[in-house]
Amino acid sequence: MSSYDVAIIGSGPGGYVAAIRCAQLGMKTAIIEKYSTLGGTCLNVGCIPSKAMLDSSHHYEDAVTHFEEHGIDIPGEIKVNLEKMIARKQSVVDQTCNGVKFLMKKNNITVYEGLGSFKDKTHIDIINSDGESETIEAKNIIIATGSKPSNLPFIELDKERVITSTEALKLKEIPKHMIVIGGGVIGLELGQVYKRLGAEVTVIEFMDRIIPTMDAALSKELMKVMKKQKVKFNLSHKVKSVERKGDEIIVKADNKKGEEVEFKGDYCLVSVGRRPYTDGLNAEAAGVKIDGKGRVEVNEHLQTSTANVYAIGDVIRGAMLAHKAEEEGTLVAEQLAGQKPHIDYNLIPGVVYTWPEVAAVGKTEEELKEAGIEYKSGQFPMRALGRSRASMDLDGFVKILADKKTDEVLGVHMIGARCADLIAEAVTAMEFRASAEDISRMSHSHPTYAEAVKEAALAATGDRALHI
Ligand SMILES: Cc1cc2nc3c(=O)[nH]c(=O)nc-3n(C[C@H](O)[C@H](O)[C@H](O)COP(=O)(O)OP(=O)(O)OC[C@H]3O[C@@H](n4cnc5c(N)ncnc54)[C@H](O)[C@@H]3O)c2cc1C
Repeated sequence: MSSYDVAIIGSGPGGYVAAIRCAQLGMKTAIIEKYSTLGGTCLNVGCIPSKAMLDSSHHYEDAVTHFEEHGIDIPGEIKVNLEKMIARKQSVVDQTCNGVKFLMKKNNITVYEGLGSFKDKTHIDIINSDGESETIEAKNIIIATGSKPSNLPFIELDKERVITSTEALKLKEIPKHMIVIGGGVIGLELGQVYKRLGAEVTVIEFMDRIIPTMDAALSKELMKVMKKQKVKFNLSHKVKSVERKGDEIIVKADNKKGEEVEFKGDYCLVSVGRRPYTDGLNAEAAGVKIDGKGRVEVNEHLQTSTANVYAIGDVIRGAMLAHKAEEEGTLVAEQLAGQKPHIDYNLIPGVVYTWPEVAAVGKTEEELKEAGIEYKSGQFPMRALGRSRASMDLDGFVKILADKKTDEVLGVHMIGARCADLIAEAVTAMEFRASAEDISRMSHSHPTYAEAVKEAALAATGDRALHI
């Protein structure tokens, strides 16, 4: 029987990063993945393919709506070739997954293809797609089995017209009218993809705002911009049935007043969140406890109820984000090597890759108010930047929240061009516990979108923004 210092179940961003870090630290490492490609949700059906589709659809939208203004004339009709677009997306996915395979080889990590299932707390049975099984032994085991799309109990996902994000990434035609249930990150990103490609898109959201966990000002601005892009929103609507009649999908929901509203489309994307995935893991054989929400229970060291078994990523509590899973993979590996790593969960940024992009780190205004923390706020609009005018990306703003007495930055919330990248500056500043004045005194290249961060910091330090 093969024996390892560490075996990791699941090869998503949590699992494969944990494997690399364990190997770097000198541990004999194995990784088990039930699918034939490595990379998990993120690389196969999540972050990477959705961003590939967002980029392709953005190019198309630019070509149709903005090229002329930029002085670029394209003779003839500009058309979408969806098959080609999806094939390009798949080649991006394939290259990225192969990159992970290469990294496993480079770091001498043994890869097992098959479903990993606990036999006991140090043994894992691996059953491959041909039904063959083998057992490996490991001193330490990391559960990194990720998540799957959630559903509402009364919705039957036929995966043809009533679909999840997984199917939305490989449709054969552009929907005429896509009904999106759930105004969270995934629904808005994929809704925007198909809106740009020509579909009518209607979002139905249970809460009274979209992206409800983010700062309310971001929800408001994103909805305003997406409405300009002709996406329709129905907030405070409780979906109660989804029915397919031939190629037609009928969604019924109760609005705020309790009245029934009916929506008709040809596709319905159900994006109501994701659930932790432990099917087939047989966690109980290792004495690993699962909580009431289906998550593997962990302590602050990400250790489960069984001392040599750890869990990371979407399968445990916290934000379901690839970079959170990666940090946790690194943390467990370094702990196993006797180091004392630490993750500040308050400083894990959240991003929505719509255009304009939305990004945030730290506390929202709502959280600060609820905690009774006195704060000051500085905001700067993107449209006041020379860079924004040059690119015609005028929507959005940067908002910095700082402690009223100490000026320490407590939260940064932004919406605008390239905010997914801009947020890194805020994370760095907050990791070093910068004040708003610290940021305002740093030189920011001109012309860049990053100047909005400096200007918002100037505004937060006492109404000192220069360009407004
Ligand atoms: C459409 C979409 C877009 C997203 N975009 C972003 C984004 O832009 N940025 C971001 O940060 N996050 C994004 N996410 C979320 C991100 O994909 C997840 O947070 C991330 O993949 C979680 O990583 P993980 O390692 O915990 O699990 P996963 O990536 O889910 O990987 C788990 C792996 O474990 C395998 N597995 C499960 N059980 C077993 C078993 N018993 N034996 C063997 N293998 C098993 C699974 O097959 C899977 O490959 C997106 C998700 C979706 C669906």
